[in-house]
Amino acid sequence: MTASPPGTLVVISGPSGAGKTSICNELLRRIPNSRWSVSVTTRPPRGTEVDGQSYRFISPEEFRRLEAEGALLESAEYLGNWYGTPRAPVEEAIRAGETIVLEIDVQGGAQIARKMPESVRVFVLPPTMDTLRARLAGRHTESAALQEKRLAEADGEIAFARTSGAYDFFVTNDILEDSVNEILDILRRRHAR
Ligand code: 5GP
Repeated sequence: MTASPPGTLVVISGPSGAGKTSICNELLRRIPNSRWSVSVTTRPPRGTEVDGQSYRFISPEEFRRLEAEGALLESAEYLGNWYGTPRAPVEEAIRAGETIVLEIDVQGGAQIARKMPESVRVFVLPPTMDTLRARLAGRHTESAALQEKRLAEADGEIAFARTSGAYDFFVTNDILEDSVNEILDILRRRHAR
């Protein structure tokens, strides 16, 4: 029996409201043998979020324990909450030749760039800052104050993505279908190498 070729780790980052989650859902639907990396977070669930689907919601104590055990591949603090990627499912997916999709912030993206340079890292940009504001306002799952905080983070995140060298690809998410096709093309080109 021959081992399957190693899988692909895909990182999708971008400011809150850029449309990362819709892009990730479409990628997962269209890429065979792909799976979503369920992050752990200390932030409370938002709207209809179900524990274990978008995130596993855990206490700060449990987060610190996982980190101390080395169970997280990367982690970062964003607006006072902690977020991290469990290591085991990523390693398992790569071993099995699958594509695993991580939706993480730029600090996490930079950690993955260092640890797993063979990963594909894409930064999603909003067409304009006004679009970002409108998309955040349309979400209705957060307070206006929290939306402002997320918006205030956006400039710094975009600047960091551009200057850190952690991202090889920048995709402006105007029309979802186009953005998804662009990322699928990037992945096809990577596999053809
Ligand atoms: P949200 O609270 O909107 O779900 O996520 C806030 C930010 O944290 C987003 O930029 C999201 O991509 C990022 N994020 C989600 N999970 C992780 C993770 O496991 N690691 C890191 N570094 N960032 C994450």
